[in-house]
Amino acid sequence: MTDTYDLLVVGGGLIGSAVAWGAAAAGARVVVIDGEDAAYRASVGNFGLLWTQGKGIKSPAYAEWTRAAVRLWPEFADLLAAASGIDIGFEQRGGLHFVLSEAEAEKRMAQLAPAGSPKDDFAVEFIPADILRTTMPDLGPEVYGATFCRRDGAVNPLLLLQALRVALANSGVTTLTGRSVDDIRPSAGGFAVSVGGREVRAGRLLLAAGLGSRDLGRSVGLDLAIFPQRGQLMISARTTPLLDLPASAIRQNREGTIMLGSTQENVGFDKSIGLPQLAAIAQRAVRIFPRIAELDLVRSWSCLRVMTPDGYPIYQQSEQYPGAFAATAHSGVTLAGIHALALAPALLSGTIPQGVEAFAADRFGDWQGHTGGSEH
Ligand SMILES: Cc1cc2nc3c(=O)[nH]c(=O)nc-3n(C[C@H](O)[C@H](O)[C@H](O)COP(=O)(O)OP(=O)(O)OC[C@H]3O[C@@H](n4cnc5c(N)ncnc54)[C@H](O)[C@@H]3O)c2cc1C
Repeated sequence: MTDTYDLLVVGGGLIGSAVAWGAAAAGARVVVIDGEDAAYRASVGNFGLLWTQGKGIKSPAYAEWTRAAVRLWPEFADLLAAASGIDIGFEQRGGLHFVLSEAEAEKRMAQLAPAGSPKDDFAVEFIPADILRTTMPDLGPEVYGATFCRRDGAVNPLLLLQALRVALANSGVTTLTGRSVDDIRPSAGGFAVSVGGREVRAGRLLLAAGLGSRDLGRSVGLDLAIFPQRGQLMISARTTPLLDLPASAIRQNREGTIMLGSTQENVGFDKSIGLPQLAAIAQRAVRIFPRIAELDLVRSWSCLRVMTPDGYPIYQQSEQYPGAFAATAHSGVTLAGIHALALAPALLSGTIPQGVEAFAADRFGDWQGHTGGSEH
């Protein structure tokens, strides 16, 4: 049996699902093939922030891409709610990053809001602790203040993925789950894969298989410098209101649980959890909100980021096999709207969106597994 589509997306995480949904909305016939239970899935273990603070300090192109993504989020959230009927807990009332000393505050403000930086919607401001305490009386005595950006926000990341999957089904996208693609065959007029006894063909291909994209890329001439970076997180039992805005390492979900995270560890494909790392996260959180020390810990987990050596995304069309694309980013929540509303239509027309050509796969030269300094 052969099924033929306009776009074949390998990987049904946040990136593959967002692009597939955007492509279906643009009128394409789309199929998504998503891996087996044992696959690595950054999309089910993340922190759920929509974040611009500190994004693109060394890359104006990334700063602008992130800002454009965050501007699109309200429209994307409305479209997704209408298409899925799911409330993903989208909020965009600003986000905080707590600092515990004057030196920490000065260093961060010098990086994020140097003299002369524009005072626009994305400007990062410093809010002293006494102001923060007017709405967050539980703030600990050690807190010096927080940096704040009004465009930052958060969603429930699991509901975001679920909403995308429901939206895909409601848009007529074929989704084959529990199916690993082992090999991609460039063929006349497109690409073919075999899964579960059937052949799937499409004119265009998007590799959005997260950490799985590196191996698959080779079959379509894409050399992808991707490596895993472990993040450990934990979540508490429900409690009364503690903080009313998401912060970079602490957020309170709508139902009252407190989520704490996350480490950045280059330890390969190791998803284990370490008490010292979790303790370090908890200790800083308790300095910020001492009441956290009284809460029961319900769950801790780790998840692997899909990282590149400079921390920026990769958007690349294969030169050898035009029509085959790869997309990967370690801010797949923040970028979900722009992946659906801008990346998807561009891929259908055979291009990468303007402004992100800088994120080509070949910028890493002869990358040999080096896990360089990444910007977050
Ligand atoms: C600890 C942590 C915290 C994070 N916090 C944030 C945050 O606050 N905000 C933010 O914007 N981003 C955050 N991220 C990043 C975000 O989660 C990722 O950018 C995003 O999930 C990447 O999605 P993806 O679709 O590329 O990859 P994945 O979610 O890994 O999906 C890849 C999919 O491809 C499938 N697959 C793999 N190989 C194959 C194959 N051979 N055949 C078929 N299918 C295959 C897998 O089954 C999987 O479903 C965080 C990540 C981590 C780990």
